[in-house]
Amino acid sequence: MKTIFDMSRPGRRGVTFPPPLLPDACFQEACLAPELLREKPAELPEVAEIDVVRHFTNLSRQNFGVDVGPYPLGSCTMKYNPKFTEDIARLPGFAGLHPMLPQLRRGGLLAQGALEVLHEMEQLLCAITGMRAYTMQPLAGAHGELTGLMLMAAYHRHRGNHKSLVLVPDSAHGTNPASAAIAGYSVRTVPSRDGVMDFEAYRAMLGPEVAGVMMTNPNTLGLFEPDIKRISEAAHAVDALMYYDGANLNAILGIAKPADLGFDIVHLNLHKTFATPHGGGGPGSGPVGVVAKLEPFLPISRVARREDGTLFLDYDHAHSIGYVAPFYGNFGVVLKAYAYILALGGEGLKRVAEDAVLAANYLRARLAPQWRVAVDRMCMHEVVFSAADQAAQHGVTAMDVAKALIDFGFHPPTVYFPLVVKEAIMIEPTETESKENLDAIVEAMAFIAKKAQEDPAWLHAAPRGTPVGRLDEVRAARQPDLAQR
Ligand SMILES: *Cc1c(COP(=O)(O)O)cnc(C)c1O
Repeated sequence: MKTIFDMSRPGRRGVTFPPPLLPDACFQEACLAPELLREKPAELPEVAEIDVVRHFTNLSRQNFGVDVGPYPLGSCTMKYNPKFTEDIARLPGFAGLHPMLPQLRRGGLLAQGALEVLHEMEQLLCAITGMRAYTMQPLAGAHGELTGLMLMAAYHRHRGNHKSLVLVPDSAHGTNPASAAIAGYSVRTVPSRDGVMDFEAYRAMLGPEVAGVMMTNPNTLGLFEPDIKRISEAAHAVDALMYYDGANLNAILGIAKPADLGFDIVHLNLHKTFATPHGGGGPGSGPVGVVAKLEPFLPISRVARREDGTLFLDYDHAHSIGYVAPFYGNFGVVLKAYAYILALGGEGLKRVAEDAVLAANYLRARLAPQWRVAVDRMCMHEVVFSAADQAAQHGVTAMDVAKALIDFGFHPPTVYFPLVVKEAIMIEPTETESKENLDAIVEAMAFIAKKAQEDPAWLHAAPRGTPVGRLDEVRAARQPDLAQR
C-alpha cells in the first residue's frame, strides 16, 4: 500500500487560494516576528483532493469496524450505535458552542441548553444507577476509575481514616488494579470460586486498612455475583467503600441499580453502553456517580440551578477534589448518550438489558456442544468459552479461533481474558445483533470446531483474507517498527 507521501507530485494541489491582497513582504517581514517564520517549507504531500479521499477511504476499508460486521468483543461492549445521535451531536447550537464562552462561567443565557443537558443527564444517570450525584468530566472509563478512587481517598482523608489497600477480584478488568495503583493504593487480588468472588477468601482479606473494593457486576465471566449484598455489607462494616465498574451496563439497565446492591461509587462508559462507539482511541466519557456521603468531594465545576430556574456552574465546593478534565468532559459524547436515553425511555433501556442477556445465553446454549463453557450456568451480557480441550487434543488455541473468525467476517472476540479461564474466548454478542447474525457466529464457530479436529493446520494459517496475515503480536508490541522506509 502506498503512503500519501508516495503519491505526492510537485505542484499538485487539493485546494487553491486566491492570491493575497497584500504583498508577500507584509506577511513575511512586517507582520510576523522572524522567530515565528518557518525555516523550510512544511513537508506536506502535494496531492489532489480526489487522491486524499481515495487514499483514506481505501485505508478505512482495510479496517474492521462495527459498521462492517459483528464485533462480539467481551468485556468491552462493541455494539451498533444509532446514527440519529450523531445528527444531534452535530446540531450547530451544540457543536459550535465555545467552552470559553465568557457567560458560561457566570451562568449567562447563551449556554443554558448545554447546561440543561448536563444537568438532566446527571439526573437520568442517577435514576438508572440509584446514585445521588454525577460528574460528567472524566474522559474515559479508566479516567472515571481514577476519579472514583480519588473520591474514595478524599472521603477517607476527611474522616481521618488511614487506609492503604484496595481489593480487586481476579476476574476484574485490567484497568481496575491499575487505577487503584495510580491513585496511590496497594492492590490485593481476591480469588474467585466457580467464576464469582470467593466470599470466605474475601472476608479473610477485609480489615481496617481496606479503603475500598472494586467490582464489576456482572463480572467479566458474565456472571452476576450472588453474594453481592453480603460483600457490600462486609465492606461497609470496616468503613470501606464499594466501587462499581459500570463500563458495560447493558446487562442490568433498567433492572438492577448499583446503589441497591450497596455500591457507593460508579463509573459508566457512555462510549460502550450509551451510543458512542468504543475503540479507535476516543472520544470517550466516563461519568462518575456517588452516594450522598461522597457528593461533597465531586470534581468542580458542578451544574446547579438558581432560584429563578437558570443554570450556572458552581465552583463553590470546599471539599471538591478539583478538576479532573478540562471544562465539562466530552460534551458531544454526553449529548449523544442523553439523546439515546431519552429516545429509548425506561422501557427501552430495560429491553436493552433483556436482549443483551438473551443473545449471550442463546450463544451459550448453541455453542455448548462444541465449546466448553467456562462456568456453565445462566450468564448475563457475555459468555466465556474455553478452547482448552481443542488445545490439548488438536493444538488449536483460542488465538487460532480468533484469527479464523476474521475470515468469516467477524471481529475476534476477546481471548485469553479473563485470566482465570484457560484458553478463554469471551463473547459479548450485544443487544444489537439479529438472530441471523447470531446464527452466523454459531455456524462459523461450529465450522472451526470441526476444522480443529480434521485440519488444525488450516486454522494455524488464518486469517487469509486480510491485508496482513498472522502477526507476531508480542514482537509488534515490544519492538514496534513504525518508520516508513
Ligand atoms: C472498557 C472497560 C474499562 C475501561 O474503559 P476505557 O474507556 O477503555 O478506559 C473498564 N472496565 C471495564 C469492565 C471495561 O469493559
